[in-house]
Amino acid sequence: MPYIQTITGRISPDKLTFCHCHEHLMLRKGKSFDVNQALCIDDYDKTLRELSDFYSAGGSMVVDAQPVGCGRMEEELQALSRASGVHIIASTGFHKMLFYPENHWIFQYSCEELTALFLQELRTGMYTESDISAPCRPIKAKAGIIKCAWDVCGLNRQYEKLFRAALNAAKKTGAPLMIHIESGSDPLTLAEYLDKNQVPLGRVIFCHMDRVCHRLSIHKEVCSRGIYLEYDTIGRGKYHSDEQEADIFSELIHAGYENQLLFSLDTTRERLKAYNPSGVGLKYILHTFIPLLKTRGITDTQIKKISCINCRQILSFNL
Ligand SMILES: [Zn+2]
Repeated sequence: MPYIQTITGRISPDKLTFCHCHEHLMLRKGKSFDVNQALCIDDYDKTLRELSDFYSAGGSMVVDAQPVGCGRMEEELQALSRASGVHIIASTGFHKMLFYPENHWIFQYSCEELTALFLQELRTGMYTESDISAPCRPIKAKAGIIKCAWDVCGLNRQYEKLFRAALNAAKKTGAPLMIHIESGSDPLTLAEYLDKNQVPLGRVIFCHMDRVCHRLSIHKEVCSRGIYLEYDTIGRGKYHSDEQEADIFSELIHAGYENQLLFSLDTTRERLKAYNPSGVGLKYILHTFIPLLKTRGITDTQIKKISCINCRQILSFNL
């Protein structure tokens, strides 16, 4: 039977009742912080407050999208899951290259070494303390998803090596493959590349297209190939209003793609209320955005698909 692989162990998909598919719950201070000071989320008690509030509001699961060697705080995530009751899925894989210091091991590892690392993190256990030194301290908690980043440069040598490794691991395990899409990149070229490399497109999530790709015809074309879309520009006025975000959901649902939509907040330090009182906080979708979707005629059944049924489908696998 397929299961969801959380940081505290395998669970039956029916334990997932309401899920955010792309958050950042903990993020160690490092190169990401140098790039953007909101990319440091390192206070256990504050994150616990957010997760406990999320749980009380009806949240049951969160995917943490910080991959190995890039500020991921796997041991804290495990403790937070136990303390809050929220199931957490940890990520292996890789982020955009600008989030790694120049001499990082990820640039030195071969495709074979990276494949073995990602497989190890999914099958046996993740590595901790690998932001600076190469992974050498394994823990028992496993990753349950492969995160990758598709950058504007497309597939230069570095990204090609990383992508090949992530695709190898995805094909060998059936684990979900979640891909950060960057503004100015070409999602259709990526879909084509995945297809050519025999990645089952029904196991793939494209993230952030609601803020980086304004042509909804491209969203629909991506969905028509079986790929899931994870929208997370919710409560983010600097990109667009919630009304505009609701329009995007509405249009994709009316086009027949309600079985392939997911949502989340893609939190940073600034967006988590426990860190910043004017942030939205993890309860925002449950308390604010879902009521807005309902005013657009989006039904309870459709909301259940986005928050639960679709997540069960994409996040379950059988190693
Ligand atoms: Zn993210």
